[in-house]
Amino acid sequence: MPSYGQVLDTAERWRELPGLQRVPAGVALTFDDGPDPGCTPGVLDALDAAEVRATFFVLGEQLMRNHALAREAAQRGHELGLHGFEHADHDTLRPQAARDDIARALGSFEAATGHRPRFFRPPYGRFSQASYDACLHLGLEPVYWSQWGEDWEPIPAERVVDLASRDLADGDIVLLHDSTRYAHRPNCAATAEAVAGIVAKARELGLSVGPLGALAPA
Ligand SMILES: [Zn+2]
Repeated sequence: MPSYGQVLDTAERWRELPGLQRVPAGVALTFDDGPDPGCTPGVLDALDAAEVRATFFVLGEQLMRNHALAREAAQRGHELGLHGFEHADHDTLRPQAARDDIARALGSFEAATGHRPRFFRPPYGRFSQASYDACLHLGLEPVYWSQWGEDWEPIPAERVVDLASRDLADGDIVLLHDSTRYAHRPNCAATAEAVAGIVAKARELGLSVGPLGALAPA
């Protein structure tokens, strides 16, 4: 099994430390790294315009500053999952620090929202053995993804739509981002703009779009 300091490719890592990579049916839309006042409101408006709900994997340090925005997302019908406290690569953390990051994130989540999340997605899709064990021990379900829009890069919305949806199929979990804090791009406009195109592609294929929790029964 992977241990501290060991580097494995994603496919092998995800086999060793399994998590949700697809849903039984439909397309799950997920947004990581918020809540961010520069990005999340535009994404929320785009989701409303497309009449779909999604899952937001929030960070504890973002919640501390922007808890009202997380509550607004929940009030607008979206699901909140957990993405860690800091945006740390768990492999670079000592085991206790990785465990502490998840526990601290969970504490800030419960303080901000008044409830406990069902899902946890590690930053970069990389658990360490210690953080994986901590996730399960805390009763959180590990989640990865099956499609992404590479929207951490400064690319236009059309490119995000193409990357996220050219191979879109029943059961896909699509990864997007509602913050620029951990990325190279200047703003999130492309992500918000891409929502309509990705949803249109799913509907073309006859697939319903929704949050993870609605598409993956517990
Ligand atoms: Zn992230």
